[in-house]
Amino acid sequence: MTTQDSTLTALTYDDLLAAIVPAEGGREITDPATGEVVARAPEHTTADLDAAVEAARQAQPEWAALGHERRSELLNRAADAIEASAEALAELLSREQGKPLNGPNARFEVGACAGWLRATAAFEIEPEVLVDDDDGARSEMHYRPLGVVGAIGPWNWPMMISIWQLAPALRMGNTVVMKPSEYTPLSVLALGHVINQALPADVLHVVSGGRDVGERLAAHPDVAKIMFTGSTATGKAIIRSSADTVKRLTLELGGNDAGIVLPDADPKAIAQNLFWGAFINTGQTCAALKRLYVHEDIYDDVCQALTEVAAQTPMGVGLDEDNVLGPLQNKAQLDIVTDLVQAAKDAGARVLLGGNPDPDQPGYFYPTTLVADVDNDNPLVATEQFGPALPIVKYSTVDEAVEMANGLEVGLGASVWGSDRDQARAVAARIEAGTVWINNHGGIDPRVPFGGVKQSGYGLEFGVAGLKQLAAPQVITY
Ligand code: NAD
Repeated sequence: MTTQDSTLTALTYDDLLAAIVPAEGGREITDPATGEVVARAPEHTTADLDAAVEAARQAQPEWAALGHERRSELLNRAADAIEASAEALAELLSREQGKPLNGPNARFEVGACAGWLRATAAFEIEPEVLVDDDDGARSEMHYRPLGVVGAIGPWNWPMMISIWQLAPALRMGNTVVMKPSEYTPLSVLALGHVINQALPADVLHVVSGGRDVGERLAAHPDVAKIMFTGSTATGKAIIRSSADTVKRLTLELGGNDAGIVLPDADPKAIAQNLFWGAFINTGQTCAALKRLYVHEDIYDDVCQALTEVAAQTPMGVGLDEDNVLGPLQNKAQLDIVTDLVQAAKDAGARVLLGGNPDPDQPGYFYPTTLVADVDNDNPLVATEQFGPALPIVKYSTVDEAVEMANGLEVGLGASVWGSDRDQARAVAARIEAGTVWINNHGGIDPRVPFGGVKQSGYGLEFGVAGLKQLAAPQVITY
């Protein structure tokens, strides 16, 4: 297997487009901030997908045979390649996805891609000795590659989530076929092109296409596992289509994360973290704070502190360095947010900020919106908004807040906010969610496993626990 250790090239924005845009045909991708055409994306077919899976299947044994040390070197080399072309990748991501270059957005996402690759390369995964008796009886657990892994991703963090899927898969000796969201194929195609400068041929394929391509990947007989991040509805469809081949799945699905502000919290001290917990990536984040429960004693102070932070945070076109919030990525998501805020207004909720989109503004912008005095069963609270609109619900007792937080069928993340850390931890333990943060929401670390409970999915990503999900456990006993 030829691996490529020659000098890496720093690619420009035009280099990236030249590498991924088809000579003819394809589908126009527009900038959600301006409506301008970014480029045409190839429309691959299910036949292209089949060819990619076959090439990946043939490449897999040699890739596995390279061993952990060499694969880790190559993952670090892929991180070098991303860093060499980081600014061009960030610009394409910003234009296609809408997120600003600045703030915790496009440059941050590209940087996280390199960081996650390096962290995944560094984990130690050794066979585990399960039994080692005096009479010589021994059992060991080994972790073998699965084969070809399919990765299906969403449009909100298209590059970073692709890395979360491909890095552990490659590290464990699998080859990968990715199917990006039809809203953000250019970002993932460009990322794949950059990474492939460092990898042997056919180890990583990106097949850009529609839902039919995703369906084929999820049902493909030569694909051993699907890593899926996206909506709960699509996750359920993938569970069904995986049945015939008993495919393994890791499902990172939708969430509607609750935050509980306890009566001893300091509203001004927590306002910044609360704001970014809810509004990172303009609210289009799986584990963003989407329902805020605040104790009645400090309700008005929290509303005011949050409004002050929100009002000062600039939103606009991503390539303008002043902006740190952007548009919704697509019209369908803009309509969802618009309708949900309208439902809250119709029910008599109080809009503290925003809620008044400008019909003449180009792009899919919805203003930063805070909605107070809203009932827990209002659709703005009960439905994942996935946009820049946060409902703030008042509660009287902690028991009531915990009951409301646990009242939905999803459980990805949650947070508890307060000055007494032990008390906050005791409340955290009662919340049904895969991760509960204290005085923070959404902070992730490649060493710390992440996954949902209830209908937010199953399986873990990140850390050694995440690596094991990309492997077949094999026991050897003698
Ligand atoms: P989506 O489910 O609409 O689409 C995700 C991907 O699935 C796309 O690539 C799409 O083409 C593909 N797809 C659609 N139907 C398919 C099928 N039947 N079989 C196989 N593939 C199919 O999700 P989205 O709108 O792109 O993403 C937003 C959702 O993702 C939100 O609900 C959000 O909470 C969730 N999300 C979750 C996480 C997490 O880690 N839990 C992270 C990001 C986003």
